Amino acid sequence: MSELLDNLKDVQNNIDKSLEKAGRKSEDVTLIAVSKTKPAEMIKELYDNGIRDFGENYVQELTEKIPVLPEDIRWHMIGHLQTNKIKYIIDKVYMIHSVDTLHLAEAISKEAVKRNLTVKILLEVNVAGEDTKFGLTSENLFEEYEKMKDLPGIDICGLMTSAPYVENPEENRQYFVELRRLMVDLKDKGLYNKNDFFLSMGMTCDYTVAIEEGAGYVRVGTAIFGARNYNK
Ligand SMILES: *Cc1c(COP(=O)(O)O)cnc(C)c1O
Repeated sequence: MSELLDNLKDVQNNIDKSLEKAGRKSEDVTLIAVSKTKPAEMIKELYDNGIRDFGENYVQELTEKIPVLPEDIRWHMIGHLQTNKIKYIIDKVYMIHSVDTLHLAEAISKEAVKRNLTVKILLEVNVAGEDTKFGLTSENLFEEYEKMKDLPGIDICGLMTSAPYVENPEENRQYFVELRRLMVDLKDKGLYNKNDFFLSMGMTCDYTVAIEEGAGYVRVGTAIFGARNYNK
């Protein structure tokens, strides 16, 4: 078996263990293989082994990869998105995880209406309060959500966060608990009235703990594809 498929198997086994520990079902979590900087051939190999959800951070990379890969891949935009790039991906991605401002939500809404689309989005919350990260804050989420929730052409499906890089995933448990609490609060306040919501949380360093705390999507790159080389 290739190293790539070996890695995939390990990640899937870890996911199963976390699900079991948390008493959750396997259909409750979707693994997104984060393929940024990695070639289409690697994506195809994972696709041939059952993976359908892939995450990318850069618009240009997405627009290069999408036409050369199978049409039923669900592409997840997980990187910071500039409003002037929305038009290149809006009809090609399954979900945009990284909606971090009202301004971006409004711009996606406008473009979606123009094209008669409904776009699934998640709101990115910087629960750890890191200066280097984009996102709404735990404090302004409610206010911003109220302004976004009735915009046409967007379907807010939940929340997303990126926790800090850590050696011990337990250190990030608090942030996953916090993201879940925010989602439950939105529901309790009657702001979010759909039955299900998705929490997109957990990366290579902490996906096991994120699953225990209710992640619906985990975004795993390095553990599957190996380290990224940005200088190629
Ligand atoms: C790159 C990236 C990931 C994957 O990170 P790994 O540590 O390689 O698993 C997940 N989410 C976001 C938003 C990313 O930018």
